Amino acid sequence: MNKRRELVNTLRDMGYIKTEKVKKAMLNVPREEFMTPETRDLAYLDRPIPLKHGQTISAPHMVAMICEQLTLKPGMNVLEIGTGFGYNAAVVAEILGPEGHVYTIERIEALKKRAEQNLSKTGYTNVAVIHGDGTGGYPEKAPYDRIYATASAPKIPDPLMDQLKVGGRLLAPIGEDPNYQELICILRRGKTEYQTFNLGGVVFVPMIGEHGWPEE
Ligand code: SAM
Repeated sequence: MNKRRELVNTLRDMGYIKTEKVKKAMLNVPREEFMTPETRDLAYLDRPIPLKHGQTISAPHMVAMICEQLTLKPGMNVLEIGTGFGYNAAVVAEILGPEGHVYTIERIEALKKRAEQNLSKTGYTNVAVIHGDGTGGYPEKAPYDRIYATASAPKIPDPLMDQLKVGGRLLAPIGEDPNYQELICILRRGKTEYQTFNLGGVVFVPMIGEHGWPEE
């Protein structure tokens, strides 16, 4: 817990954590439970951790930034594209509380299974992990108050724009360069009215699927 507290304090001092709710959530979620046995000791370093299958666990500062930018509130209905091992979804679920729901989609089945185990052993029963191509969203539980992607696409997939509630907010890393993308924030103002903000440079693994990058 000391290491977790130290990391959270550092992220707050650096300006990534801005609100009490994100701070509390990151203090409550045991990040070590979302790591592989070999990388458990690295849980409280602020860096992305490589997983099998060429994927990564996002760095804690990126999780903090996403949670702050999403302006999450208890009870919201949220969609995540790119579950990985489930840590970011757990932090979001912690903020939403028992009345909220997180639907998270992962294209690699082995990661989906691992995330499900991690979320179950840490008690996040308000997160459903779905195996599939998240570029098509998850129409079954749409519309969403918030949608965020932790993998990058050349443009925002149309189905995600459609599945966002009017008044909702979407975050996704967008760009064609594998080493540089921009974190784009979309606010849906009306049925066909969307406002776009660029939150600056980031680096994420590619979002592979029908409305993202083609599989090689
Ligand atoms: N959210 C994770 C965390 O908490 O650390 C980080 C996930 S990692 C940066 C991005 C994930 O997106 C990878 O696990 C990758 O397999 C997944 N991914 C890529 N394309 C996808 C798609 N079309 N649908 C669902 N998941 C996808």
